[in-house]
Amino acid sequence: MRKNAARLGRRNGIRLAYVPEIQPDELLHSWLGRVAKTNCIPLLSPNSWGETLRSGSIIPDLPTDLLNLMNWLSDDSPYSSVQQLIDLGTMYPYHRSFLSPERHAEVQEKLLHGDCTGLKTLLGRVANGFGANPNLNYCTECVSEQIKTNGHSYWCRQHQMPGVKVCVKHHRPLQTLATPRAVGEFLYPPVEASWMCNSPSASVTQMQMRFARLNNELLSANLTPIDVPTRIRAYADEAKIKGYINRNGNVDKAALANALLHHYDNFSGLAFRERLLSSRSMPLAWVHAMFTRSAKSQHPICHLLMIGFLFTSVANFMEKVAGIRTSSTASYTPTVGDSLLTEMEELEQALLKDLSLSCREVAKRLQLSITTVVSRRRQLRLPISSRRKTVSIDDIERIKQSLSLGTPVAEVAVALSTSVSTVYRIRSEFADELERATEPNAKVQKDRDALRSLIGTNRELSINEIRSMNPALYARIYRNDREWMQEIMPRRKAYVSSDRANWALRDDKFCGILDKFVLEFLRNKNRGQLTYALMLNQLPEATVRNNLHKMPRLNILLQAYVESKPAYSRFRVRNAVNALRNSGSKFSKSAVQRTAGIKNWTPELDACLNRHLEIIL
Ligand SMILES: [Zn+2]
Repeated sequence: MRKNAARLGRRNGIRLAYVPEIQPDELLHSWLGRVAKTNCIPLLSPNSWGETLRSGSIIPDLPTDLLNLMNWLSDDSPYSSVQQLIDLGTMYPYHRSFLSPERHAEVQEKLLHGDCTGLKTLLGRVANGFGANPNLNYCTECVSEQIKTNGHSYWCRQHQMPGVKVCVKHHRPLQTLATPRAVGEFLYPPVEASWMCNSPSASVTQMQMRFARLNNELLSANLTPIDVPTRIRAYADEAKIKGYINRNGNVDKAALANALLHHYDNFSGLAFRERLLSSRSMPLAWVHAMFTRSAKSQHPICHLLMIGFLFTSVANFMEKVAGIRTSSTASYTPTVGDSLLTEMEELEQALLKDLSLSCREVAKRLQLSITTVVSRRRQLRLPISSRRKTVSIDDIERIKQSLSLGTPVAEVAVALSTSVSTVYRIRSEFADELERATEPNAKVQKDRDALRSLIGTNRELSINEIRSMNPALYARIYRNDREWMQEIMPRRKAYVSSDRANWALRDDKFCGILDKFVLEFLRNKNRGQLTYALMLNQLPEATVRNNLHKMPRLNILLQAYVESKPAYSRFRVRNAVNALRNSGSKFSKSAVQRTAGIKNWTPELDACLNRHLEIIL
């Protein structure tokens, strides 16, 4: 061993007489304990290890200040780098893949340089309710084997995952030792099989085994952090493929939660069953939280249950993640209401707006075609250097202007001496804008329709007359849509000015319409009363009402045709008499009254009836 004076000084004069080999899957905590023990380093003295592993910095599965430890160990370190120390000697890989990259950076900082203050909170152990201080676990079979092979036992990482209650290798329930409370104290692994407490060996269920295997898979996969949108997308895509999709195209989280619960047999036999089932607000709230980008990270237990349900294995999940990482931007298809896509959109926008990047560069990064990037940049009204040679921004504006005036594409192309395909491309790129420019919105369209129909049914009227028929409508269009109004109204101005003398013409025309209608109406044996309102209904009502004094013949005709209530009753009596005669029934006053359906019989009607009877009898 190469030891210089400076290093010896840092070690406070402690010489490591023997450096034990670290075992496969051994916790760093376990190895350090063995180092301390074999070298007789007083564990509780703050002057010895205390300077190396800062006082209070020892969480058995997540030791901190590791860079300092690495320096201190120097050539005696069991691993060649501090990253290996973290990856192979701590439980951090179990948490890491489910932390956001930002959170990961904070944790990594603590593991390398800091003390353990706040580490459990950072990892979400405190808030998640799956236990912030996990006890150390061991398998009696494993301990026996270790002692037989190496002469000593050690703490295995794969036995330390929260919720894992069985040894996958031996199918045996794990035993537990409470973690030490004393500062800087190491918990030695059990030394003898006989020493170990043998709690009554509960039977190991299939579910527990399945869950333990999944945990082991995660730990040995040694994953790096997965950015949250990618992770959510992996879950969401797979959930939708499996049919947990609602009408809006989003993940049906309630159905997913139900199926997951069923898949794990209500978590029976799993540790933290109560915690998994319940939450303050809603059952299995964590399933819903999996799909939100909240700052609070979910515990690996929750992620593993989700991964086990959706992907069966961690490897399948990672395959999906890898697929999304390489192709997400290329196969980018927006889904309504999918919040994670908005983040991708934001990224895309940021790249598009970064003018220091060429279209080619952006296209490469977003895995889009250059044409697409050019199109999207143009939509954002960003200057495009490479395209300017052929179609300048001014050209585009001119093309847009022509198109918005409704000029056909071919004409625009000829007029502005550009290709038809360029005009088509610009039309599709600015489709929204052009539509806004050419098409009125729904409200305006409704008003236009109303005015059009008003004019259509009152072709003879002047603008003023039309305005008087619906002043509000006229005012609204005049205010908001004057150009259009002037476009459809000018003919009318000329027409009206020369039309003042033509009321006689209208008088004639309306009389003709009225005659025709009344004759037709009176022919109907089952008709109702011929009222003034009914007749006006057949004519441009407002015009007639307002201008009746200008149409004397029509006025007379209306007065003549209108049928009074007594007159209508007489019609009904006559009708009833005819009906009774035609059917050969016996005449009586009550029979006529009944057939005519007249409730209030008057002496007048008596006279009327008698007249009819005289005629027909
Ligand atoms: Zn075992």
